[in-house]
Amino acid sequence: MAYTAMKDQLRLELDEIREAGTYKHERAILTPQSAHVATAGPGGGTARVLNFCANNYLGLADHPAIIAAAKDALYERGFGMASVRFICGTQDLHLQLERAVSRFLGTEGTILFSSCFDANGGVFESLFGAQDAIISDELNHASLIDGIRLSKAARLRYRNADLDDLRARLEQTRELNDGAGARRTIIVTDGVFSMDGYLAPLPGICDLADEFGALVLVDDSHAVGFLGEHGAGTPEHFGVSDRVDLYTGTFGKALGGASGGYVSGRGEIIELLRQRARPYLFSNSLAPSIVAATLKALELVAGSRELRARLMRNAAQFRTRMAEEGFELLPGEHAIVPVMFGDARRAAQMADAMLAQGVYVTAFSYPVVPKDRARIRVQLSAAHSEDDVETAVQAFVTARTAIGKC
Ligand SMILES: *Cc1c(COP(=O)(O)O)cnc(C)c1O
Repeated sequence: MAYTAMKDQLRLELDEIREAGTYKHERAILTPQSAHVATAGPGGGTARVLNFCANNYLGLADHPAIIAAAKDALYERGFGMASVRFICGTQDLHLQLERAVSRFLGTEGTILFSSCFDANGGVFESLFGAQDAIISDELNHASLIDGIRLSKAARLRYRNADLDDLRARLEQTRELNDGAGARRTIIVTDGVFSMDGYLAPLPGICDLADEFGALVLVDDSHAVGFLGEHGAGTPEHFGVSDRVDLYTGTFGKALGGASGGYVSGRGEIIELLRQRARPYLFSNSLAPSIVAATLKALELVAGSRELRARLMRNAAQFRTRMAEEGFELLPGEHAIVPVMFGDARRAAQMADAMLAQGVYVTAFSYPVVPKDRARIRVQLSAAHSEDDVETAVQAFVTARTAIGKC
């Protein structure tokens, strides 16, 4: 029994995770994802709670028109494709969704993946080889880090959103290939950094890219659908849409919240990814119901400013009220609002005390965020009402009193 030895090792490792306080427990939600959800309560019953930790920015996860679109597609187009795209897994719906994403972002082409994790897993290896350089923000999402690792290109990392450090890394690429410089260089960044709600400095990044002849890739998972005048994300917000070569993003957050991701951008790149990207070639097509419902989500987002405006109003209301109550927030406008506590234990106690009051938020501490920068990350949604937002503020106030200022 080879497993006997391994079993003991794994139990030890699991104990270590528990002792470090980083063991992740999953709370079962018993309703659709929404502003209000029911969860399994501590005593075995159910508890209704206000949810402030989903990526359901536009409140589309249980939108009736999206559910109807998914249901119609389920009956008319079946449950699954049982094939990858290039064998017999492409329905007209997949092509429609690719065109719709291109229209929405203003790009030449789009290729769908099962997730943004897969999109990021496929994009680098296909395009960047040993003669090339990939320069990545240190706080980029895990899927970008993993995807970049799969490529044989030189990998360079710059300090979070630090343009001087990025410049230094770009200068370094000139020494590659025995001083001939990299064949291709790409700068890779999240559009929004998820632990801080900070936006990447895209205008400065694009300027440096122009100066050094580098491409730019933005993973806009935490912005697509709601940042920018038409919801096209951080590049639109900063007015640099046509200076970004590649976009990656997810349908699993603002755009309905089910699953799926994409790479969008320059036509030849998208065409080549269809020939080379391994998660595209060797993984099943997105289910028709998800494709049809995501098309509906894009239609809703493109057709109305109302959801975006409500989300931004809720974020502004929460930021203003929390500041009035004397909480320390990381500054910004994004619907990710980190409430800072510093001490990990205190952040966790606050989150527990708030859940007891029916407000569901999550505490983050080291190693997810720097030591002594523990926080509760609140995520607003267009599905929240003004009252919901005020309820959350009051829960913070009450929890703070209960725990004591210590
Ligand atoms: C959420 C997220 C992903 C993963 O998206 P999935 O579609 O869930 O795989 C990738 N990148 C960033 C920046 C994200 O925030």
